[in-house]
Amino acid sequence: MQKYETKQRKALIKLFAENAHKSFSVKDIAAAPGMNGVSVSAIYRNLSDLQDEGKVQRVTPSGSKKVYYRYTGAKNCERHLHMSCSKCGKTFHMDVPATDLLISEVLSESDFKVDSASTLLLGTCSKCRK
Ligand SMILES: [Zn+2]
Ligand SMILES: [Zn+2]
Repeated sequence: MQKYETKQRKALIKLFAENAHKSFSVKDIAAAPGMNGVSVSAIYRNLSDLQDEGKVQRVTPSGSKKVYYRYTGAKNCERHLHMSCSKCGKTFHMDVPATDLLISEVLSESDFKVDSASTLLLGTCSKCRK
C-alpha cells in the first residue's frame, strides 16, 4: 500500500505533536478542533498506520476497557521511558538521565535489559492521587 500524507493524517499528527503529553481516545480525536469532517473510520485507519510506523502507541490502562493513543514520534521518545496515568490517561516523559539510571540499575540487579522505547510504566499521577 502506498503511503502518502493525506489531509487527515496531517491533522492527526499535528494534534498529537501539539499535545505530546496527552493520550487520546478515538472519541477525543474525533472531537478535537482541526479534525472536523474526518470520519471515525479514517481516524482508525490512520492510527493503525501510525502505530505500524512506531509514531503512535496504543495504551490500555489496566482495569479499563478504554483504549488511548499517544504520540511517540517526538524527538527523544525512543530514548526515555514513559509513564502513563491509569486514571486520566496522561503520559509523562521521563528524562533521559533518569531513564538511563533506572535501566542500568535493573540491568545490574537482575541482568535484565529493559527496552526503554517500548516500556510503559503504569501508575497514578499527582492530580489523580488527590
Ligand atoms: Zn517521550
Ligand atoms: Zn491522572
